[in-house]
This record gives sequence, C-alpha cells and structure tokens, in this order.
Amino acid sequence: MTGVFRRRVFLRQVEPKRRYDVVIIGGGVNGLSLAYNLAARHGICDVAVFEAGYIGAGASGRNTQVVRANYNTPENVPLYKASLGIWRTLSQELDFNIQFSTQGELDLCHTTDSLEVERDKSLLNQAYGVQTDVVTPEEIAHINPLIDLTAGGSFPVLGASYHPPGSTARHDSVVWGYASAATRLDVHVHEGRGVTGIRVDGDGCTGIETDAGPISAGAVVSAAAGWTSIVAGMAGLKLPISTHPLQAFVTEPYRHLLDGLVSSMDLYVYISQTARGELLVGAEILPYNTYSTRSTFDFLSEAAKRSIQILPFMARARALRQWAGLCDMTPDSSPILGETEVPRFFLMAGMGTWGFKGSPIFGRTMAELVATGRTPELIAPFAPDRFERDRMVPDAASAGTH
Ligand SMILES: Cc1cc2nc3c(=O)[nH]c(=O)nc-3n(C[C@H](O)[C@H](O)[C@H](O)COP(=O)(O)OP(=O)(O)OC[C@H]3O[C@@H](n4cnc5c(N)ncnc54)[C@H](O)[C@@H]3O)c2cc1C
Repeated sequence: MTGVFRRRVFLRQVEPKRRYDVVIIGGGVNGLSLAYNLAARHGICDVAVFEAGYIGAGASGRNTQVVRANYNTPENVPLYKASLGIWRTLSQELDFNIQFSTQGELDLCHTTDSLEVERDKSLLNQAYGVQTDVVTPEEIAHINPLIDLTAGGSFPVLGASYHPPGSTARHDSVVWGYASAATRLDVHVHEGRGVTGIRVDGDGCTGIETDAGPISAGAVVSAAAGWTSIVAGMAGLKLPISTHPLQAFVTEPYRHLLDGLVSSMDLYVYISQTARGELLVGAEILPYNTYSTRSTFDFLSEAAKRSIQILPFMARARALRQWAGLCDMTPDSSPILGETEVPRFFLMAGMGTWGFKGSPIFGRTMAELVATGRTPELIAPFAPDRFERDRMVPDAASAGTH
C-alpha cells in the first residue's frame, strides 16, 4: 500500500481503438476481473472493457458482499474454495484495500428438511477441505447470543451449519481495485459506451458495434449479467437464462454488535453488519422477470419482519436505504463460463446470486481459456453447452432460490 492515505483513482479517458485483441462487454466485477487477469497473468494488455453506464452500475455495486465456499455440489465447492483462496490476498494483489473481513457464517434451520440439507452440505464441504460444521441450538447460542432461537416464538431453530471461512468484501472497492489494476496494465475501460451489436461472419465472432462505430476483436466476452440474454441475442444466441430482481436494504449505522453473517434457510433472509456499522439485509430473488431496478415496500416490510424474528434487537434499528439489482438465473443455479457455439464469442454469465464471490476465480480461469484456448478443469463443468448435453450442475439450495 502506498502511504496511509487512500489512493485516489481515476480511470483514464481514451477514445476506443478500431481493434483490440479482446473486447469485454460489461464493466462489473467479472468483466474487470477478466480484464485484469488477461493483462496480469497472460500479458494480453490490448484489452478493452465496454460499459454502457459506469463501472459497478450493475449487480456488482448492489450486492450484499457475501463471500463463502459452502456450496452443495462436487463441481461448485472446489470452484468457490479456489475463489476464497484468491480473496484472502486480493488487496495485496491489486494494491487496493477491498476491506476483506472473515467473521463466519451461520445458516439457521427451522425444519428437519433444511437441517438434512445442511448435514449433507457439511459432509460434502469437509470432503473438499472446506470447513462447514453442523451445530446444535446450544452451540448457536454460544457462537451468536443475539439470535432468538425461537424465531419470535413461532419457528424454533433446530440447528444450523456454521462456516467459519464466511467473509465479506466491500463491493465497490473490489470493482475499483480490479479497474485500477487493469488500467495500470494499459487495459482500456470505456464507460458510457454501450455495445449495440456483435459482429459475426461465417468463421465466428469478429467484433462489436458501438455508437462510436464498429470495433474488431480477436475475441469477445459477454460479462453483462442481467443483460446477458440481450447481448447474446446480438450474436444470434438464445440462452436458458432469465433475469430476476433481487433486493436489499441497510439500516442507519450503529456501533459494531453483529459478528459474521446470520442467515435463515427457511425464512430466506440474511443479515450482516458492514464496516460502516449499517445492518445489511438480503432475501431471495423475486419470482418474476424484469429489467427494472425499482425496489418495493413489500420487500422492505417482509425482510425487516423476518430479520426481527431471528435478531430481535433489529426492531429498534431504522431502515436507511433500499435498492434492487438484476440476477441472470440459470436453470441449475450455476454459472455459465466458456466459449459459445459462435467461435471466439465467450460467456461469463449466469452469475445469478453468486457472481460476486466467484469473480476472482471466474476472471482467472476465463482469462486462461481466452488466452490459451484450453479450458481449466475447474470450469469445465460450467460450459455453455451443458444444457443441451444434459449435464446440469443443480445447486438451487446454495443460491437461495429453492
Ligand atoms: C441485491 C443483490 C445481492 C447480491 N448478493 C450477493 C452476494 O452477497 N454474494 C454474491 O456472490 N453475489 C451476490 N449477488 C450477485 C452478484 O452481485 C452478481 O452476480 C455479480 O455482481 C455480477 O457481476 P457481473 O460483473 O457479472 O455483472 P454486473 O455487475 O451486473 O455488470 C454487468 C454490466 O454490464 C453492463 N452492460 C449491460 N449491457 C451492456 C451493453 N450492451 N454494453 C455495455 N455494457 C453493458 C451493465 O451496465 C453492467 O454494469 C447479489 C446481487 C444482488 C442484486
């Protein structure tokens, strides 16, 4: 780190060139992680990120910052375990304080069914070297005495899984950390430059269309998350992705009182406290499709009610701000990472409710694929053609969508 002062970072404004080796569509955490990894690990610096709005304008600047590896399938656990490994030293790697903090995660179960799911998860996690333990109500009271084990008297907690590596990182710092590290390596980040078309000829993808004219590219990667279906449609592809809104709210800031993340597997709510002291509350995705990011009073009142059921002190907290973001959900609740049937057009998509925690490993592995043409073993199960090959990686329980 340079000195004790926060470094002031500005993105260099440059006119887009007429050609790049790699063009990335979308300036969220995944597009920027890919850009950084291409330049830092493979020496591919002739890279441009085209962002329709501002960097972090999508879900990357709106998420609830949870980073964890306690997933439910043999494909997902090693993937998020590898990501967690990168998170731990990402501030040093990017030379930017991303405010990574490990405080543990408690997933409360109020039914025998959810406790069974957590037991299976714990065994699978342990088999892959990820610490997730099933704990009793007495142990929960010891880990976090603030939890009401009766959930308001109506929904007693039967047990929980406890994941000590559960962490958070400041979302906009991660976006800016990747963007500034990539631009130091001469990557171009173009804000306010929407991609309006994808150029495809008989041999595959040859570039993009923008309001500044056509730009040719050796490879094009869509990292447009909630807008993936629209972008893929520009290349003539129809994907099994649907876009859903996900909401969150924060309270006014209070002194630090909540350690770690507390979630309820049956009430579909999760709570943490930010470094600023706000209580940050998230819930499940809404069932309908929309591109609107309007937040609703129904969400606020319902999520607040469920939070108070498990953490009664929250009844005295004052809600400060609420918002919504878009999630690109896949049929199996797992990401899509790989080259499409259009040669040299790649997808870093299906980011759903998990794309923040995965971004370090998604960027690293996709950079290897784009740079070398070889698919890293970790992401082989997440190829775009897995749906037609009937090789899905079903993990709705981890995504909070069941
Ligand atoms: C409320 C909420 C809570 C969440 N909580 C968590 C969490 O705790 N942990 C977790 O792991 N994940 C969480 N997620 C999911 C996570 O935030 C996303 O999966 C992740 O941020 C996706 O990042 P991205 O870079 O792929 O996409 P985004 O950040 O959405 O970026 C896509 C970008 O593409 C741009 N774009 C779209 N179309 C075009 C175009 N035609 N041309 C150029 N640019 C375009 C958009 O402007 C946008 O900036 C949450 C999401 C929400 C909404």
